Amino acid sequence: MVDAVRTQVAIIGAGPAGLMLAHLLNASGIASIVVDNRSRADIEATIRAGILENGTVDLLVASGASDRVLTDGHRHDGIELQFEGEGRRIDFRQLVGRSVWLYPQHEVLKDLLARLLADGADIRFEHEAGLVTDEDTDTPKVVGRDAAGTPFELVADFVIGADGSRSIARTAVVGSQTGGYFREYPFAWFGILCEAPPSAKELIYANSANGFALISQRSDTVQRMYLQCDPDMDPASLSDAEIWDALQSRVSGTALKQGPIFQRDVLRFRSFVAWHLQKRRVVLIGDAAHTVPPTGAKGMNLAIHDVRLLHRGLESYFAGEGTGLVDRFEQVALKRIWRAQHFSWWMTSMLHVAADATDFDRRRQLGELESVTASAAGSTYLAEAYTGWPAEELG
Ligand SMILES: Cc1cc2nc3c(=O)[nH]c(=O)nc-3n(C[C@H](O)[C@H](O)[C@H](O)COP(=O)(O)OP(=O)(O)OC[C@H]3O[C@@H](n4cnc5c(N)ncnc54)[C@H](O)[C@@H]3O)c2cc1C
Repeated sequence: MVDAVRTQVAIIGAGPAGLMLAHLLNASGIASIVVDNRSRADIEATIRAGILENGTVDLLVASGASDRVLTDGHRHDGIELQFEGEGRRIDFRQLVGRSVWLYPQHEVLKDLLARLLADGADIRFEHEAGLVTDEDTDTPKVVGRDAAGTPFELVADFVIGADGSRSIARTAVVGSQTGGYFREYPFAWFGILCEAPPSAKELIYANSANGFALISQRSDTVQRMYLQCDPDMDPASLSDAEIWDALQSRVSGTALKQGPIFQRDVLRFRSFVAWHLQKRRVVLIGDAAHTVPPTGAKGMNLAIHDVRLLHRGLESYFAGEGTGLVDRFEQVALKRIWRAQHFSWWMTSMLHVAADATDFDRRRQLGELESVTASAAGSTYLAEAYTGWPAEELG
């Protein structure tokens, strides 16, 4: 028999969604326990998203989660769309008066963990949640095991599934781990990290007849770049020289600064939204609720927006106002989630070249890029979506 631990909010997953929620709850005086199956070192070494919307940065700074985003992050006031060898800048500040920040996800996680642990938060590393039970009651439970195999049980007023795209909490909400709207894409990104100076000041999204490429930055000495590839590609199958040739052929308008490649990975593209985001007192947020292809840089930003909304609902509940606002979470969160799904799909389809694309498809795609970049209305839509729409409110 396991001794159950009682808390107000049990959070599965110490990614951006779970940690940010724990941080905001802490600031509101609401107790939570976070469990993650990985160690702190593993979590802090996760190389993933890098672009933060204006609203995400505002929340990180205003809530005291991160000052470093402003000192160590880089403000980007635009991006370049490159096609037919020519770059066209989308000037965010001029079009919508907003910017984005380049600040890698693992730095956000380091900041959140440092702050939470300094504030005495209860974060249990190497604790694997196996199941969420009692989802039809007012006291749902999380059961699992720690790294030594010792079982644990958390009983809470709310259980939050912030456990990423392979969420186990999803089963308690929609009846299976895969229940949702789903789309798979016929290509993926081959990503590299390399030691080199930046090749450009801002991100370059390049559409070429050879496929898509993204030239992104990490710091003055480390760069992140991506190539459109086959989802089944073996990351070891290309030599460094072949990678540089492929990148350069797709970004012919910019001379790339090369350097040693020290990390390679293949990132498959999926769009997913769970059938439902909540069942009574079990709620899904972040990648557990939805996944987007990375072309629109929306993954981590959507997760933080979910947190902002849900925190407001939980604050209202623990202030004695009942579950009214929490119960509105799904309906309100889904508005932004589907806008972001559309934007991510649109950027992906406009910039990538399908293996079966006809000449007509190719010319139509170039026409679309011309329409977006030559028109203030087209560029403004892109700038508005990329930098992030205004936050939704629960009511
Ligand atoms: C390889 C990769 C590359 C990406 N690159 C980009 C990018 O370039 N741009 C972009 O915008 N987005 C990118 N994303 C998406 C972005 O990183 C995610 O949207 C973001 O991490 C979502 O945060 P989250 O907290 O919801 O989930 P996650 O960051 O996935 O965190 C979930 C946490 O839950 C833990 N967990 C899972 N299951 C359990 C369990 N059973 N018990 C306990 N703990 C558990 C995991 O260890 C993890 O720490 C990428 C995603 C991946 C997978």
